[in-house]
Amino acid sequence: MSRAADASPAIDTSRPPSARRPPTSGRVPRGAAGSGIVAAMLAAACLLAGPSAARAQSRPAPVTDPSATLEAGRPLPGPVYETPEFSRAVARGTRTRTGRPGPRYWIQHARYRIDARLDPDSGRVTGRETVWYLNRSPDTLSRVAVYLRQNVFAPGSPRLNPAPVTGGLELDRVAAGGAGAAPAELDPVPPSHAAMPITEAPPGLPDPGRYAVRGTVMWLGLRRPLLPDDSVRLELAWSYRPAPAPADGREGHDGGVWYMGYWYPQMAVYDDVEGWVTDPYLDWAEFYMDPADYDVRLTVPSTFVVDATGTLQNPEKVLSAAVRDSLAAARRTGRVVRVVTPADREPGGSFSPGGGERTWHFTVRGIRDFSWGASDTWVWDATRALVGGSVAAARAGSEGWSVAPGVDAGSAPDTVTISSFYRLTDAASAWRVGGARFTRDAIERLSDWLWPYPWPHMSSMEGVLDSGGMEYPMMTLMQPWADTLSLAGDLMHETGHMWFPMQVGSNEKRFPWMDEGLTQFDVAQGMRAIYGEPREGGRPNDSEPGQRRLYVDTARAGHEGTLMGHGDRYPASLYFVMYYDKTAQVLAALRSLLGEETFHRGLRTYGRRWVGRHPYPYDFFNTFDEVSGRDLSWFWRTWFYEPWSLDQALGPVRTEGDSVAITVRDVGLAPMPVRLAVSRADGSVQRLEVPVDVWLGGSREHVVRVPARPDVVKVEIDPEERFPDIDRSNQVWARPQPATSHPR
Ligand SMILES: [Zn+2]
Repeated sequence: MSRAADASPAIDTSRPPSARRPPTSGRVPRGAAGSGIVAAMLAAACLLAGPSAARAQSRPAPVTDPSATLEAGRPLPGPVYETPEFSRAVARGTRTRTGRPGPRYWIQHARYRIDARLDPDSGRVTGRETVWYLNRSPDTLSRVAVYLRQNVFAPGSPRLNPAPVTGGLELDRVAAGGAGAAPAELDPVPPSHAAMPITEAPPGLPDPGRYAVRGTVMWLGLRRPLLPDDSVRLELAWSYRPAPAPADGREGHDGGVWYMGYWYPQMAVYDDVEGWVTDPYLDWAEFYMDPADYDVRLTVPSTFVVDATGTLQNPEKVLSAAVRDSLAAARRTGRVVRVVTPADREPGGSFSPGGGERTWHFTVRGIRDFSWGASDTWVWDATRALVGGSVAAARAGSEGWSVAPGVDAGSAPDTVTISSFYRLTDAASAWRVGGARFTRDAIERLSDWLWPYPWPHMSSMEGVLDSGGMEYPMMTLMQPWADTLSLAGDLMHETGHMWFPMQVGSNEKRFPWMDEGLTQFDVAQGMRAIYGEPREGGRPNDSEPGQRRLYVDTARAGHEGTLMGHGDRYPASLYFVMYYDKTAQVLAALRSLLGEETFHRGLRTYGRRWVGRHPYPYDFFNTFDEVSGRDLSWFWRTWFYEPWSLDQALGPVRTEGDSVAITVRDVGLAPMPVRLAVSRADGSVQRLEVPVDVWLGGSREHVVRVPARPDVVKVEIDPEERFPDIDRSNQVWARPQPATSHPR
């Protein structure tokens, strides 16, 4: 997701930085000053040599954290402790401490058959749905959980944002294993964020043959327990009214455009770490979904154009020969072709006003969600993207990366059909210029940066939303943009989500940084590759300098935040700047720490290992540790678990005999190596690095000695701004100019 409100939240930047320190801030050990003079200055390359033994990085949590005793005079980052649930998964062989999936890794799978009908006159979507839910876990399940996310619009449902009340999802029939289930009377239990232990159902759940709906989650008691490797068939009949724009900022209708997202009853995730994960949808933090197969028939008025996740199975039934020819031309030539024009909506045209309905049939395998958009006002542009090489080829040679269960290897295309749907309005004028083109650019650029886009199409749709965009597999729904560079950035962001989380299926609700932060970083890479940096215009958060400014300004104002927090419990004013921009900056710092090549390899290795699977944060951390051959606990702990900011400063620079003593201070809380540039009178620049171990040893101050000749004229910390230091004003020392005339 992105929102236009991504710009800096309203924060009082006049607050002095001294108000910034969190209570964990320790006293500054003055005794440490100058005690660790390292005669041997370390060049940057020195640090990269001699990696810590590649020992397992995350570890089971002890009863009490010994590092919390604060023996040193400053807060020091402790180890990365796993949750007990993750340690249990390691013991069971579904996870490892290398970042690879365990040998016994499993993931649940479902097959959906849905027949749905949109009636724009009554404003209702009506559906009949059959789900075959395959239990690949070793656990016997007596109950299953199903999300009814439209209930976020039901009266009385808990919400974190104001939302229109539509009545939610009306269930007409619920059946399991061929037998109808009846609603259960339950004591009201407040929705819980807590995951339930594996194989244990939450208390107060319905008996076999009954179902209970609490907010956006339905629990269904099975008459016959679902054994490992067995499946159960659920049948549901339901209807709902898509919420009026801007709804929850993710779907709904605006009169002309209907977008069905989070629209059908969907199985909750039962994973190998937490078991059932049924955090309610509260119209704020995002989603967690298992891969599934879909066979969906959508019936709409014949004047409507439809596109959806998956491949259209009956184009000859719903598209005229002229439209099909245009699509083929777009795919063959790579030109942007107007497939459906305003003329097609004139009397006699292929989408002209008339009676009747059409049924659009889509199928797709191994994907985490299905959504669709429909409109009788859109024009439709199409082109193609060339992603070079197939996913299968990309998989080959990647150690430990067998064909992941979530990606249908047979569908990996070299040519991706790009579609863009929008209205010819002034507010959406940028779409006419670049809707299709920018979508194509994003697919091609990110396929190059990460790995090839695996699906046959990517479609962008304008409508419903009034701020930013929302991602769905193969689809994005977005606000009307008049500014082309902003549209390009927004499309890069939502298209970026086709990798994280659409392929790499992290839990977006509990770890928003895992999809939003990684995507935000990727957006900056893609936009820089196409439009360069620095650049004028567009959205500030689509570039690394812009992301840095948003994060640093916020942290400097005393609003630093940790990244390892549940999205629904996170301060709303910090949600975007921390999960998105801080994470992107942390990744940029990691890139500088590891070097471009190692970082890139780590990112892609992590992604490929977890395509079609459910990575946890430890899998991300441990993969980078393994790929880099370094123990980066201090980095993960500092940047993901602690609300610590980076502030490195220069102290006195003094000539002492034949050397110059440069005092470097770590006045912030986040320990990082110090990159020094020492400029001399002869124009040479010496690069030095103070290793992070100096700070991790408890020091706050460190003296670096360099030869005094040729004269040192300037010393600067991190001149390229590779690290997100919150105060650059204390990072430069320049030799005072010698007095040339009567000084005063
Ligand atoms: Zn996003």
